[in-house]
Amino acid sequence: MVSKVSIVRCDDYSTSGVAVAEAISLIGILESIISEGDRVLLKPNVLAARKPEDAVTTHPSIVAAMCYLVKDAGGIPFIGDGSGMTHPGATAEAFRISGIEDVAKAHNVELINFQTAGYLEVEVPDAVHFPKLHISKAVLDADVIISLPKMKTHELTRYTGAVKNMFGALPLRTRKEMHLLADRKLFGEAVIDLYSVAKPHLAVMDAVVGMEGNGPSHGTPVNTGAIMASYDCVSLDVVASGIMGLDPMTVPTTVAALERGFGENNPEVVGVDPNNAKMSYKPSSGGILFNIPPYLTRFFGRYFEMRPKIDTSRCIRCDACVINCSAHAIEDIDGHLEINRQKCILCYCCRELCPQDSVDIEKSLLAKVITRR
Ligand code: SF4
Ligand code: SF4
Repeated sequence: MVSKVSIVRCDDYSTSGVAVAEAISLIGILESIISEGDRVLLKPNVLAARKPEDAVTTHPSIVAAMCYLVKDAGGIPFIGDGSGMTHPGATAEAFRISGIEDVAKAHNVELINFQTAGYLEVEVPDAVHFPKLHISKAVLDADVIISLPKMKTHELTRYTGAVKNMFGALPLRTRKEMHLLADRKLFGEAVIDLYSVAKPHLAVMDAVVGMEGNGPSHGTPVNTGAIMASYDCVSLDVVASGIMGLDPMTVPTTVAALERGFGENNPEVVGVDPNNAKMSYKPSSGGILFNIPPYLTRFFGRYFEMRPKIDTSRCIRCDACVINCSAHAIEDIDGHLEINRQKCILCYCCRELCPQDSVDIEKSLLAKVITRR
């Protein structure tokens, strides 16, 4: 059956609840994926601690609308993400500033910080780059996953939408390893390794105000006036990137997904004619990583490190960090705790949980220079 992608006009977030409901009704009822009592993960893009009007994060009104609709369909919604910033506490701060925390409170819905909730290692059948991946437990535990992306440009993938939104399910170390592939095609393939084992059942895109230029976090908000929905993330990305004025076949995540048999490059579009929604988003300049040769990216990437380190003089051996370290990276060496650098996945959970504030962050010289800027 051909996938459907819906486009609904929505020029203002004050009417986004109605638009989200209409976008979903155009592709078929939610009960087709949600059974009574299912735990339904709502995965917005909470990349950074930015206000809704900055257009970096999914607008809270979209998340609020989905809380309501999931409950109405008999599901139990919960919200989760892990931000992309490399410092402890970043996700909690991003939830607060983006307005997502307020939505969770207002709708009495659980809010899960992927970085503190932990990760599980899973096998990736037919992987191209990552035969094993650590993935957020919250994602793996969900009965239903709903991706709530923001329409944005992206320095590596040119466009970021429903598929790439699942990147937040990875711990920071894996995200860094994928970036250090330093090649758009390889990076797209790696993202599809993840997508193949963490595939959302539905995507609802916030394209009311998107981001052009140097997305996904340093671009310019642009009024686009649409909400989009599809039960197939790849098909949604094909249509959404086209609306932005991109050739969908230049988006590496879309190309890699289609090559692996996911989605369709010519889905049925319902609602607004995409030609009437068409924009011409300014592209990203490509970002620092893709404006220098790959070997330099890999070289410098290796030297950018922000690693947790236990200060044994303050540690009281409560073992909260040991118990909660998903990667089993905290080891007892001659009676004191040390973090095994090879095993650590950089989730910073140990630092967040330590009651003694005994987990410091050790920065490499390059990280000190960059984070000072
Ligand atoms: S040592 Fe800390 S940062 Fe590293 S994986 Fe374990 S909990 Fe996460
Ligand atoms: S949580 Fe903190 S105090 Fe407890 S064992 Fe770990 S480092 Fe020590």
